[in-house]
Amino acid sequence: MEYETISKPDVDSLAVRPNLDDYEGIRSGFDYERVIDELDGLPGGGLNIAYECLDRHVAAGRGDKACILWDGKDGRQETYTYADMAKLSNQFANVLRKLEVEKGSRVFVFMDRIPELYAAAFGTLKAGCIIGPLFSAFGPDAIKDRLEDSGASVLVTTPELKAKVHEIRGDLPALKHLIIASHNEPPEVDDGELSWNDLMADASEEFDIVQTAPDDPAIMHYTSGTTGRPKGALHVHKAVLGHYATGKYVLDFHEDDIYWCTADPGWVTGTSYGMFAPCTNGVSSVIYEGGFSASKWYEVIQKYKVTVWYTAPTAIRMLMKAGDEVPKKFDLSTLRYTMSVGEPLNPEAVVWSEKAIGLPFHDNWWQTETGSIMIANYPVMPIKPGSMGRPMPGINPGIIDEEGNEVATGEEGDLAVRPGWPSMFRTYWNREEMYDSRFKNGWYITGDRARKDADGYFWFVGRADDVINTAGHLVGPFEVESALLEHPAVAEAGVIGKPDPVAMEIVKAFVSLKEGYEPTDELKRELRRFSRERLGPGIAPREIDFIDTLPKTRSGKIMRRLLKARELGLDEGDTSTLEDD
Ligand code: AMP
Repeated sequence: MEYETISKPDVDSLAVRPNLDDYEGIRSGFDYERVIDELDGLPGGGLNIAYECLDRHVAAGRGDKACILWDGKDGRQETYTYADMAKLSNQFANVLRKLEVEKGSRVFVFMDRIPELYAAAFGTLKAGCIIGPLFSAFGPDAIKDRLEDSGASVLVTTPELKAKVHEIRGDLPALKHLIIASHNEPPEVDDGELSWNDLMADASEEFDIVQTAPDDPAIMHYTSGTTGRPKGALHVHKAVLGHYATGKYVLDFHEDDIYWCTADPGWVTGTSYGMFAPCTNGVSSVIYEGGFSASKWYEVIQKYKVTVWYTAPTAIRMLMKAGDEVPKKFDLSTLRYTMSVGEPLNPEAVVWSEKAIGLPFHDNWWQTETGSIMIANYPVMPIKPGSMGRPMPGINPGIIDEEGNEVATGEEGDLAVRPGWPSMFRTYWNREEMYDSRFKNGWYITGDRARKDADGYFWFVGRADDVINTAGHLVGPFEVESALLEHPAVAEAGVIGKPDPVAMEIVKAFVSLKEGYEPTDELKRELRRFSRERLGPGIAPREIDFIDTLPKTRSGKIMRRLLKARELGLDEGDTSTLEDD
């Protein structure tokens, strides 16, 4: 079905004049290197994301402004100013110094969205260390893979989550310090643990930020590929230019905005756009600790008078499912701009949101590796529902063929971007070869398939690989298969993404059993429970089917493509490399 283009709004009719009020004009004169002129740089030289996010506002007399409006799961509401966050992060940087954690060390956080998470992340950056955020829903296997690969020496977690860490701590010789933080009572700590509260109580609120250079590593996020375990995409302090500029031009931040990004910092959106973009632009951000509920979410917008809202298609589809009557019960009139990222945003969702909340969602596209938004819909441009929009100023994407040459307008190909933007990842941790393999003929290959139309709008087609996108989160089939194989009953496992109306895809596993095991419903439930415990609910398979043998290539690789075609009743395509059939 064709959806009508939503026409370009009259700029003067908008609540505020968009920062990007002239797309062509700003794009043609844009130079990412000059964005630094709008930031401050470290007083003694160098560049540090945390300084640009916090201390520069304090230095300019804006320290009293609310940085975080925290809404706890238990209903507590707390405000942290820019000055508060600068001090808390200084304290944590001092903690790291006292523990003799050296520049470049990996410091991971495995916690819910409590204020300590943000203090730890900014403090880590100030100490010149690399911050690695993990989803609190991860199970022990998922944590172990990431901590082992990164060689993290510090992990900050909470009393509620630490049992999962203890299960695997013996496998992590590099992990020297386990810090337990609580936003309730000071935590009781056991042997081998340190108390956040004790460490912070002894730490000064003053800290001279380590003189990080623009190209010094700052943050790493693990992301899934088709083969192998998740890999750590490494970003540098210079990425802050991308966070700031996209915050200004895509999220359209203005001084008085109250902004809400619903993403968890375990996902790159929750750091680039849950922390760095709003803070560098000096706006106030709502941090909502709770999970999804349509009425709770609308209530958050009403309670905090949210003006700019950034969320994801799965959440929007769940809001749609909850019905049009729910938003009517709340005052959402403060909202002026809404955006979405992470998966294809169905055109119906754009049309629905215009009707139900009075504003269309603006889709944008980027990924862990790109570090900041690459393609977007902007306030001053017509929206073609279903399209990801047009390139951010300073970004040059293209659609290319296998040789790395651009294809004709309207043709499908690999979505690629000309390298060199500031927030581009600099390597996959310990996997330089894999990093190199992502570049071809002067392009960075994103792993997505797309098309570009005659107006320069990009349209997402699908993934070029077997990576599963479930509720906006990428899941690598290999990680799930490996966890299933740890179960004594499992001989082989093949994992695919099965289309789902709400989550876009769900993780589905095909399992063949070892001799002596019966394919019962009880075993199915046991395998689901087993993988949920090992990996966490976001990664573990929602569906499992037993199968006698898995289709494999002659070289022994499981043919997930074929499993998927069979599951969907589609043409099985080229099966000439199949082992036997
Ligand atoms: P991640 O690195 O986990 O943020 O996932 C990035 C991937 O999510 C992209 O490579 C796409 O496959 C998908 N994705 C992100 N944004 C969009 C979008 N607006 N439309 C379609 N797919 C998207």
